[in-house]
Amino acid sequence: MEHIYDVTILGAGPAGLTAALYAARAKLDTLVIEKGQDGGQIAISAQVENYPGQPAEGESGPQLTARMAQQALRFGAIRASDEITAVDLAGDVKRLTGRKAVYLSRTVIIAAGARPRPIGCENEAKFVGTGISFCATCDAPFFRGLDVYVAGGGDSAVEEALYLTKFARRVTVIHRRDRLRAAKGLQERAFANEKMAFLWDSVVERVDGDGFLSAITVRNVKTGERTTIRADGKDGLLGLFGFIGYEPNTELFKDALPLEKGYIPTDEDMRTALPGVFAAGDIRLKSVRQVVTAAADGAIAAIQAGRYLE
Ligand code: NAP
Repeated sequence: MEHIYDVTILGAGPAGLTAALYAARAKLDTLVIEKGQDGGQIAISAQVENYPGQPAEGESGPQLTARMAQQALRFGAIRASDEITAVDLAGDVKRLTGRKAVYLSRTVIIAAGARPRPIGCENEAKFVGTGISFCATCDAPFFRGLDVYVAGGGDSAVEEALYLTKFARRVTVIHRRDRLRAAKGLQERAFANEKMAFLWDSVVERVDGDGFLSAITVRNVKTGERTTIRADGKDGLLGLFGFIGYEPNTELFKDALPLEKGYIPTDEDMRTALPGVFAAGDIRLKSVRQVVTAAADGAIAAIQAGRYLE
């Protein structure tokens, strides 16, 4: 007979790993399925410093994730590396079809998170990996001593721009308004950093280069004026990092669950519209997306899954 898990969690970011910790520690037969690396969005965060209990100086996203994963596995959660391609969530036993196996479970916690939103400029796809990146932790060393541009004005853009100053000659934030959305503390650090510059009221319209990115055309949204920034002749290469928000990974659920603005609505106990199906973390319709709120969602979802099973 096929094995039926008590709780199956989709996604091993802070929400999924916390759900796994709570479910496994409550002695529920718990499976976590992740298609890529653990950590979700913080897997590509150079520094996390506002999760309670961390070292005061902060630590990298992967370091924090590794501790979360170890803790969940220590209590007996099982981890599978697989990509789920179809779901049947309606019955008492939920069926998740992956590339490697089919998984059956009495409850499902969807913690599949979100992915970076593309910058949206002309020629973008041609230069992803050859000048355009969405992960400072992964790619900053490639831009050592070069000029780097960051699209966006939120916490991610400013935090990652600050990290990039450790490598780049100069980091210029291109923001569509004349003031940042990022937290005040981050803004203060950015304005005080001599390597940081700001291009206000501007969006990236187009990127060019011969193999590698060497020109960025920005448009001033107030005046309509276009300016092309070219790589220094000796460098021959520019960096452009995109941090203009995220899009939820909900494609798999669009026929199974009602979505709102692309996200999964839940009640405050993380219940979705389907009995036994919960959602937690960045994939959920909500207003605050932090590591600590994702973790809280995961804990609530796991506790409620346990109550549902009772
Ligand atoms: P965000 O807060 O949604 O900010 C996105 C930024 O990109 C905004 O400045 C926005 O401009 C700009 N933007 C959006 N669409 C654009 C477009 N089409 N063209 C140009 N610019 C565009 O995203 P985020 O910074 O990635 O943060 C996501 C969530 O994670 C937030 O809740 C954030 O607080 C949280 N986060 C927290 C931390 C931390 O606490 N340390 C770190 C990272 C992220 P406008 O300002 O004009 O809207």
